[in-house]
Amino acid sequence: VKPPPFEYEQVESLDEAFELLTENADDAKVLAGGQSLIPLLSLRLTHPEMLIDINRIESLASWDDSAGLRIGALVRHRVAERAPEMVAANPLLAAAVKYIGHAAIRNRGTIGGSVAHADPAAELPAVMMALDGEMECLSRRGTRRLAAADFFLGYLTTALEPDELLVAVQLPAWVAGSGWSFREFSRRSGDFAIAGAAVVLQLDGAGAIADARIALSGVADTAVRATGAETLLIGQSPSEEAWAAAAAAAVADLEPPADLHGSASYRRHVAASMVRAALQEAAHRAEVPG
Ligand SMILES: Cc1cc2nc3c(=O)[nH]c(=O)nc-3n(C[C@H](O)[C@H](O)[C@H](O)COP(=O)(O)OP(=O)(O)OC[C@H]3O[C@@H](n4cnc5c(N)ncnc54)[C@H](O)[C@@H]3O)c2cc1C
Repeated sequence: VKPPPFEYEQVESLDEAFELLTENADDAKVLAGGQSLIPLLSLRLTHPEMLIDINRIESLASWDDSAGLRIGALVRHRVAERAPEMVAANPLLAAAVKYIGHAAIRNRGTIGGSVAHADPAAELPAVMMALDGEMECLSRRGTRRLAAADFFLGYLTTALEPDELLVAVQLPAWVAGSGWSFREFSRRSGDFAIAGAAVVLQLDGAGAIADARIALSGVADTAVRATGAETLLIGQSPSEEAWAAAAAAAVADLEPPADLHGSASYRRHVAASMVRAALQEAAHRAEVPG
């Protein structure tokens, strides 16, 4: 299937992008890696009159780990997966990115594109939720920094205004000794997940759980944080019983969408299994401080 006709504009600077976005806000779409947008165009599920290609805006393609990890929107998935400094700066992100599609898709796909696309089954929204990531949204009106919980509003829907660009995502500094895991289940390698879990655990000096972060993908119209399960874990010693109880709590109140890939109860079951496996792996990696 061929896309509907559109005007194509390649911009070299943020100024040029904002000029076009301001003039054509309701009729234009930003083109980054194109790994979601081009399929949507080809399936005629979106009909923008103009594509604004931002790939030549160099300032969006860099990242910086001097204060937490700030990742420009155009940084490709493959960089987060492979650049040793970036993997060290946030191993959960690196673990999650590996599950995105296939290598060819990760070579083109961008961090900003995945976050702006906001697919609830995608990996990066779950990582942003788990880590309390912040989205830097820029327009001619100025910068807005939105917490992940305020950014992801619904299925493929974010708080980005039509004249705004997502210019970067900001993650807090990685706490040394934290254990992490990203687990997801899909029928075939590279497919979107039926459900997934992003987990970070911190232990205290006595080996008890000092902090727990759990976010789920594929179980609601956005990625969700399992705060009840997190609270249950604080102060407990790592154990199979603790993981099982937290996994059950993480899915207890969920009403996942049913579709041809599985019923709601099947998705709940898969999500609980992913949480349990991710907790086991994160605990294995967590270090007792001191
Ligand atoms: C076979 C296949 C398998 C896939 N599997 C997965 C998977 O497992 N997990 C997963 O997460 N994704 C998967 N995808 C989707 C895709 O890889 C990601 O959603 C994609 O990489 C998004 O980044 P992009 O740069 O390609 O965005 P684009 O396709 O260019 O854009 C996506 C959307 O975000 C908007 N956008 C992009 N950048 C910005 C910006 N800076 N500011 C504002 N809006 C912006 C665009 O206008 C568009 O609406 C798969 C795709 C294919 C084709």
